[in-house]
Amino acid sequence: MNDSSTKIDKIVKSDAEWKKQLTPEQYQVTRKHGTERAFTGQYWNNKASGLYRCICCGTPLFESSTKFDSGTGWPSFWAPVTEEAVALKDDRSFFMRRTEVLCARCDAHLGHVFPDGPEPTGQRFCMNSASLSFEPKKDEKK
Ligand SMILES: [Zn+2]
Repeated sequence: MNDSSTKIDKIVKSDAEWKKQLTPEQYQVTRKHGTERAFTGQYWNNKASGLYRCICCGTPLFESSTKFDSGTGWPSFWAPVTEEAVALKDDRSFFMRRTEVLCARCDAHLGHVFPDGPEPTGQRFCMNSASLSFEPKKDEKK
């Protein structure tokens, strides 16, 4: 199988495989479209510099330089690392119209994006800590 129409190597695993790899909360959020409670996640208040990767497949998703304090209790970014890193999808659940943000590689549910973010993009990527794995920058201790 060789699908040349997409640049991204998709990662497809069964529910059982994801369950084995993830904690129950990570599984619930990323594979069952859950949302962690505000101010309970690992990263909403993380101010260290580094890279946020997908908890499921390790794809780089967000950089700390685009993280901002949104006051929501979830890690918030005004842009992904690259536009290709995330996939956006219309989400009409709960009688609301929102845009869901997924990992482009493994379809992990990451959170939602809202049009009320800061400059320069005006976007607010409202993510779940449970969907992310933070990798601190290493070059600071030379
Ligand atoms: Zn992923």
